[in-house]
Amino acid sequence: MKVFIKTYGCQMNERDSEAIAGMLAEQGYSIVEQENAADILIFNTCSVREQAERKAVGKVGIMKKLKKKKPALIIGIMGCMAQNIGDKLLRDMPHLDFVIGTGQLHKLPEVLNSISEDRKQLSLLGGGGEVLTSMGTHHQMPDAKKYQAYIAVTRGCNRFCSYCIVPQVRGREISREIDDVVSEARELVAGGVREIMLLGQNVAAFGLGGDTRPPPDGVSPFACLLVELNKIEELYRIRFVSPYPSYFNDKLINTLGSLHKVCHHVHLPLQSGSDCILKKMNRQYTAEKYLEIADKLRKAMPDVTFSTDIIVGFPGETDEDFNATHEMMKKVGYDNAFIFKYSPRTGTPAAEMTDQVPQKIKEERNQILLKELGECALAHNKTYVNSIQEVLVEGPSRRNAKRWSGKTGTFKVVIFDPAPDTEQGKLVKVKITRSTSATLFGELT
Ligand code: SF4
Repeated sequence: MKVFIKTYGCQMNERDSEAIAGMLAEQGYSIVEQENAADILIFNTCSVREQAERKAVGKVGIMKKLKKKKPALIIGIMGCMAQNIGDKLLRDMPHLDFVIGTGQLHKLPEVLNSISEDRKQLSLLGGGGEVLTSMGTHHQMPDAKKYQAYIAVTRGCNRFCSYCIVPQVRGREISREIDDVVSEARELVAGGVREIMLLGQNVAAFGLGGDTRPPPDGVSPFACLLVELNKIEELYRIRFVSPYPSYFNDKLINTLGSLHKVCHHVHLPLQSGSDCILKKMNRQYTAEKYLEIADKLRKAMPDVTFSTDIIVGFPGETDEDFNATHEMMKKVGYDNAFIFKYSPRTGTPAAEMTDQVPQKIKEERNQILLKELGECALAHNKTYVNSIQEVLVEGPSRRNAKRWSGKTGTFKVVIFDPAPDTEQGKLVKVKITRSTSATLFGELT
């Protein structure tokens, strides 16, 4: 049977889709690119914002027409939205065959078998650590880059930031065994992968058993994992996302600086530069501590670039709080930032806070930070001009297929003219000749 998988949301969802595609391919299913060609449609959904849920619900709603034409079609929803409101979805959409939560993905083949035999709606939610068994299967998705792969190293989160629904929909934090992750990486590299991205809602908490207290100095199982991965021959680059700032102790920072395969780009979620708002968000660090971590990372890796997540208009955010965030942006000098206007998420403490900020103010604050980000990235990218950068080749550029693109270790996109022997997944040297706020342009050397 042919399966079409549509993924919404984060890299962890992309990885889950890839893992279930791998599981289903092992069972004889084929993964197809067109929904019209499929016997089974699976929507892997996101619940982080209500808008993401609405988008997925709209899409599944449209599928009702297709099901009328093809009554044998099986339609299912997996992922965070299934976990969050799965039973309601089954009630509201009789053409939906199943919902499967984030902790039960390993049971998907059984679910499909059962629905094929007995066309009854099925709900499989809850679950726990067993889902780890599904985290090692890989499948080359039609639009994926062959030489890059995601490896999920932790699942879930124990931190309960007051605006975030992830702990409810992804469950408690669990980590895989270090040997398990390393052997998965070895297999991927043997198959041609050259860059791996380690994933986890709280990736640097890997191996800490879900303890939310920052680890003492000298303790970082995540650093130990990086050391082991760095030994894999033919692996060029290691990236990771998303680390909670408090887990960057000296051991981890020094390890990052000492391993040549670990890329000098750190995604360091700030959320707010105001201690008062950080406290309301239940983030366990202060602006000062965050800056101290950023400074130490810069000392360990002088060319490091930072990206971040910021929420503007969190309940109770005053002009003063917002200015503190703006100041932090200037001090850290981010190269990229995902700036979100706060939107209440049902089921989280922040949604119940009474001092919500008007939408107009959120818009204004958002624009101010976007402008700051653009100026900072432009200024920083100018410093790359005339330098020679090592670039991992990704292939033809999306805008102009005659030119190729790749990325520096610092996560900068570089556009260049390929030579006849330029190959995807290889490292090349590019002399940067000009830059914009988003892109570097150069020539092969
Ligand atoms: S650490 Fe990240 S995933 Fe966990 S609750 Fe906070 S924002 Fe959500």
